[in-house]
Amino acid sequence: MMKIMAEGVIDIAANLKTVQAVMTDAVAARPNQATDKMPTLVAVSKKKSVLMIKGAYDAGQRHFGENYVKELLYKAKDVDLAKLCPDIKWHFIGHLQKNKISQLMNCPRLHMVETISSYEVADSFQKKMKSDLTLNAMIQVNTSGEERKSGILPEQCADFAQHIVEKCPKLILRGVMTIGKPEHDYLCGPNPDFECLIKCRESISEHLNIPVNELDLSMGMSADFKEAIIAGSSHIRVGSTIFGKREN
Ligand SMILES: *Cc1c(COP(=O)(O)O)cnc(C)c1O
Repeated sequence: MMKIMAEGVIDIAANLKTVQAVMTDAVAARPNQATDKMPTLVAVSKKKSVLMIKGAYDAGQRHFGENYVKELLYKAKDVDLAKLCPDIKWHFIGHLQKNKISQLMNCPRLHMVETISSYEVADSFQKKMKSDLTLNAMIQVNTSGEERKSGILPEQCADFAQHIVEKCPKLILRGVMTIGKPEHDYLCGPNPDFECLIKCRESISEHLNIPVNELDLSMGMSADFKEAIIAGSSHIRVGSTIFGKREN
């Protein structure tokens, strides 16, 4: 799917177009066209240069996702990038350690933190953020139940959402996100991580009386964003399909 130009140069604009075409097809393929709303595309730029980010921005991309606080700050504070990409919207999508939260608060144009994964982290944002600030937030759910993954367990979602809404008003609850297990075989049926996240959103919606469509579902990455959108995702995080493989 990814287009590579001569000498291995990656054509970011073409890759973005490809992703958008798949997104459009996937929206049309939703059963009963449940909703025809296009999802938000977050371009995951971790381990990619500011030059590549600028390339994507020039092609119209505005939302960018980063996994590491240090790397995000380095990029968000880059003077040239900030000047050339004034409308950039940063999403933090990585594992959050409590001792990094103050640093994250200093990120210019931080639009959303998608990985609020524990009471401790939520409370810490509430405590450390300046009183006149708010931040868009998503609850990270550990839908696959793998121990090494962070996130709230699905059955704790509704109570945790209530805690955020009542006790952490500086966080504006925007939805739920999952990473899930990679490489689900769709011949075996629907992706259980997606189904689980959809149920979590329902439980929060019922518990707090928030209309379901006011809560975003952040699910779907390069390998499965099409299936995620068909399943109802409103927010996808795509890295390697846009920027090329990452060196690990
Ligand atoms: C790296 C990453 C992505 C993007 O992964 P790709 O497979 O490159 O699209 C999405 N979400 C999270 C949380 C990630 O860490």
